[in-house]
Amino acid sequence: MASRFDSLIQRTIPAFRNKRMTLGTSSVGFVPTMGALHEGHLSLVREAREKNDIVVSSIFVNPTQFGPSEDFDKYPQQLQEDARMLEELGVDIIFAPNKDEMYTDNHTTKVMPEIFETTAEGKSRPGFFTGVATVVTKLLNVVQPTNAYFGQKDAVQCCVIRRIVEDLNIPTNVVIMPTVRESDGLAMSSRNAYLMPEERLIAPVVFKSLLAGEQAWLDNDKQASAEEIVAEVQKVLNQEPMVNEVQYVSVDSNINMLPIDSVGPEGCCLSLALKCGEVRLIDNIVFGAIR
Ligand code: AMP
Repeated sequence: MASRFDSLIQRTIPAFRNKRMTLGTSSVGFVPTMGALHEGHLSLVREAREKNDIVVSSIFVNPTQFGPSEDFDKYPQQLQEDARMLEELGVDIIFAPNKDEMYTDNHTTKVMPEIFETTAEGKSRPGFFTGVATVVTKLLNVVQPTNAYFGQKDAVQCCVIRRIVEDLNIPTNVVIMPTVRESDGLAMSSRNAYLMPEERLIAPVVFKSLLAGEQAWLDNDKQASAEEIVAEVQKVLNQEPMVNEVQYVSVDSNINMLPIDSVGPEGCCLSLALKCGEVRLIDNIVFGAIR
């Protein structure tokens, strides 16, 4: 069915490239997403709009980054509503390919950022970062942006992308933007829509627990062991019975997201993943960062 966004949305790589060519050789800002857009995504788009001549956003629910028991089939999809928001912010092209456009029957090449499979998030979702690295490399090759924008909300993903760009000599500048939160501290996420009302009420405990971990470090003159920090986080989470599975609480180098034993004034990234009811939530904070 025809829609008023048909000229904004490009479904194939050749159509995208044709449209891109008509816009000339100016700077291109790129915001890759899986759609179901919220203010977190839109903050990246606004930054891209401000700093580039042309803005491209992609909407693609990437099957290779979902595990067999994950939510690929029910991931929220709302292309027309997303297109309306992106048009309003002045996006020039939305690249929204289908699965067969991105992965032909002969597709075989994978980008494997092995070390990141050993991070807490990588261990929790085997194969996830290979899926992410492969699709982001493909999207960067299709779009060829000057600047690409990603959210700190997905901390390991930020490190993976910085590595891909440097290791594979991709001529794109990677820009990391702060996590956008609801007024009660819950990090915005497309998956928050899965939360039942009573789960949504207690979900801010995730951010609260991370802040308690940071406070332990601040209270001890910016010195703490990973063990002490994790214990503070757990203490807060333990008070909330609706948190039914803490998958990890991890204290990592904020450069590469690999675990560290103790944290000094240089700080760290404290991250966690848990299940609130059936919904998996992730969040992180970088110690000492202004928020
Ligand atoms: P996704 O659609 O979940 O793949 O996210 C697309 C991009 O938006 C990624 O770079 C995410 O890190 C970023 N993003 C998602 N949620 C937030 C948020 N709450 N704040 C800032 N960026 C976000």
